[in-house]
Formats: sequence, C-alpha cells, structure tokens
Amino acid sequence: MNSSNAGFRRPADAATPGCHCFIIPPHVLRQYSADASLDDATRKSLRDTYVETERLRGLREAHRVAAIGDVNRFAIDGLVHTPALTEYDCQHRQALPGKLVARPTAGFKTVQDTTAKVVEFYAKVLGRNSVDNKGLDLVSSLHYSRNYDNAFWNGHQMVYGDGDNRLFLEMYLSPDVIGHEISHGLTQYESGLRYQGESGALNESFSDVIGAVFNQWLNNWAVTEPRGWLVGAGIMAAPAQAKGFTCLRDMLAPSAKHCLSPQPERYSQLDPSADVHVNSGVPNKAFAMFARAVGGQAATQAVKVWYDTATNRALRSDARMQEFAALTVASATKLGGASLAGKCRGAWAEVEISA
Ligand SMILES: [Zn+2]
Repeated sequence: MNSSNAGFRRPADAATPGCHCFIIPPHVLRQYSADASLDDATRKSLRDTYVETERLRGLREAHRVAAIGDVNRFAIDGLVHTPALTEYDCQHRQALPGKLVARPTAGFKTVQDTTAKVVEFYAKVLGRNSVDNKGLDLVSSLHYSRNYDNAFWNGHQMVYGDGDNRLFLEMYLSPDVIGHEISHGLTQYESGLRYQGESGALNESFSDVIGAVFNQWLNNWAVTEPRGWLVGAGIMAAPAQAKGFTCLRDMLAPSAKHCLSPQPERYSQLDPSADVHVNSGVPNKAFAMFARAVGGQAATQAVKVWYDTATNRALRSDARMQEFAALTVASATKLGGASLAGKCRGAWAEVEISA
C-alpha cells in the first residue's frame, strides 16, 4: 500500500455533502502518499490520515443538520456563560476526547493559550461569545492517532494530530489553524454552509479569513504584511520547507509555487468538481484584496464585513460565490457606506465576480 496510490478509491459517498472540516485537503494527503521521494513511514502516515479523514467527513453532515435551529438549547435569559477551555490527551489513539489533562504543559498549554486568544478575538473584534455566541465550552484533543497529518472540528470539539515531521509538524503550531478550525464551529451555528461545491468553498474560505485575521491581530500585523496572509506557515516541517513550501495556502497569491496546496485565483479557473479547499482560493483572494484596499489592520473593519455576511442570516446554506459577494457588498454598505462598498465590489471584480 505504500508503493502506489492504487489503494485509493474515491469513496462512493464523496459527492454527498459530508463535511471535512479539516485544515489539510484530502487530495494533498493522497498526492504525497504516492510521492516516491518520501520515505515509506511518511507515506504510510499520509495514507492513514487520508483514510481516517474520509471516514470522519461522512459523520459531519449529521452534526451540521443537528445544529441548525438548535442554537438556543443552552441559553438562559440574562446569564452570560464564559467558555471553559479543556484539553485532552488521545495518547495516540482515536477515541475522543481522550484523557483529561488537569494541568496543561508544553503543547497542551500552547493549545489552551491560543484557544483563549481566539475567544478573546471573537469577543473584542467580532463581539461574539464563543462559537455559538452562547459561550460554548471549547474542548481540544491532542496527539490524535499516530503521525496524524490533520486537524479538525468534528461538530463538537477540536482535534489535533502530531504530523509526520516530513511534510507537517504538530497542527496546533500555527495560530491560524486553530482559528480556522474553531471558526468551522461558528459557521455550523450560523449559516450552516454546506460542504460541497461553491458553498463548501465559501465555508472553507470563511475559516481561512478568520484564521488569518486572527493571526494578524495576534501579531499586530497590518494588511501589508505578507506573512499575515499565509495559512499553515507554522506547521510546515523542515523537509517540506527545503522543497520551497512555506505554507499550505496563501490568500494573497493562491496559485503561488510556495503553496503546498495551490489554488485558482479567478472565478473562470474554478473546477466545479474540485475539493472545497481548492476553490476557496477565489473568495480568499477577494477578501485579501478587500482588506488591502481598506488598509490598516484587517481586524479593524474588513473582517467585520465578512463576519456580518456570515451571521446576519441572509446567507443561504447552499449559496454560490456571486450571491455571497453581493451580500458582502450589502454588509459593507451597512457598515461603511458607499466608499467601503466600492472597495468590496472592486475586490470581487479582481477575481472575476460581479457583486
Ligand atoms: Zn477547514
């Protein structure tokens, strides 16, 4: 199974709206597991992660449907719940959540600290209380499986693999990865964007937007700082960096050679059958262009436009990109008038979408 990709069969349910709320696209795992320049152990890790990723995505649609209309289940009038953060150790097994870590140190401490910062970013920048806006407690499990090359939100909690150390390091090392995955929870409780086609690409893109702006806010970077637009820069292992890969994705330059998972940049380049992590390059670039047209820091205004669109309930769960773009222009008009709306429309025009 290590020497070829003949063992990979497209799952029969691959076209159904399962959710893979992961950071690493399945096709990257599959492609590199067949890369003869990598050692067998690394390729086995990639293959095993791919198989597990495909298994888990089938479980997600049930969570997505269950969460819609269930937002108020824990709400008590007048009582604001502060989200509790807990970490668990999977001890390289796949049973979740694993063993409770009473006193987080090392990687567990990093996850707790960064997750706390995401909660702070949500509150201060977005005016939101955790993923459900009701103070949902956030559970994180580390050391999932062995050499697991992914991180994911499973509908209830965060899960982080350790990576294989050839392509990827521990998944929690990039703050944007943590912000990305937690924001899949936000989408689950708001628009419920379906994980297929253009709505799936929009779901992925929204997580990249929040993850990247969270990372910029954490580092006090302006929109002109190129590092602020990289996704997964902190999880690239030394051998992958030696091959020239500095990130998983680059929102400013989605098709650039330094991206391990390059993406299209314009709407006419979209492949309707491509993975949601591929087509998300188009709305990713639109947001980066918008934020740079606005200037300053993306957390000040630009991200609030995208957040308004993602949460004001006008967005349909099967929205296409043109519809999403028009809604961002409406949000921009609401928050910043004709001038901000013009910058938003201009950014979408750069990726060939008329808003
Ligand atoms: Zn994702």
